Amino acid sequence: MKITPLGIWGAYPPANGATSAFLIEEEGFRCLVDCGSGVLSNLQTHISLHELDALVITHYHPDHIADVGVLQHGVMIETLLNKRSRPLQVYAHANDEDHFSKLQDKYMNATAVSPRQTETIGPWHVDFCETDHPVYCLALKFTNKHNASVTFTADTAWTPELLPFIKGSELLISEASTYHHMIDQIPGHLSGRQAGQLAAETDVERLLLTHLPNYGNPNDLVAEAEDVFSGEVALADPAQSYFVEKG
Ligand SMILES: [Zn+2]
Repeated sequence: MKITPLGIWGAYPPANGATSAFLIEEEGFRCLVDCGSGVLSNLQTHISLHELDALVITHYHPDHIADVGVLQHGVMIETLLNKRSRPLQVYAHANDEDHFSKLQDKYMNATAVSPRQTETIGPWHVDFCETDHPVYCLALKFTNKHNASVTFTADTAWTPELLPFIKGSELLISEASTYHHMIDQIPGHLSGRQAGQLAAETDVERLLLTHLPNYGNPNDLVAEAEDVFSGEVALADPAQSYFVEKG
């Protein structure tokens, strides 16, 4: 499983940056997790639009869906030009019917997902867990046929519900939206230290921090996480890809 960060910033992108998105690839299947501001441009530095098979959306905040409309335009144009012969498969929760209904059109097939059901998306089984966030939001766990898995917290405050969900993952990709001394000012999110606690309490091997704040020094988030977690910690780096394998 190859995972490439396409956008690592929360709320809004800095100059030449992008908000939330990761590209996951395995066995030739390509899936986008969230599609924030600036993501469509970054995606095309890795693959052509017609090569994208699926999109999974964690929740409907703008920093996770800002580029969905232009992705729809891109898929439509590529289909009309016969570069693309199949609809884009989109997976998202339907608790917000207004947002969910906009994902279904002639060029995109939308499937409603929930924590009650595992979805098969390309080569993975994908599980969902409700987080603690001001709008309904789902953490995601992708597991491949070798039983290797990666969990994305999506956006969340600290909640023990996530612990059994994350357990067993090789890699945890956690939001770290703020610094621990500011956690009461930024509700609905995790600090670097809390992301480290999630990793420590679930025995994952590696922790990547994402959904980073546009203020302060994000390297301090790594130091916060390292205070409580002895595994590998890094900021998600769009210049790199990360590989998840069993053992
Ligand atoms: Zn959010």
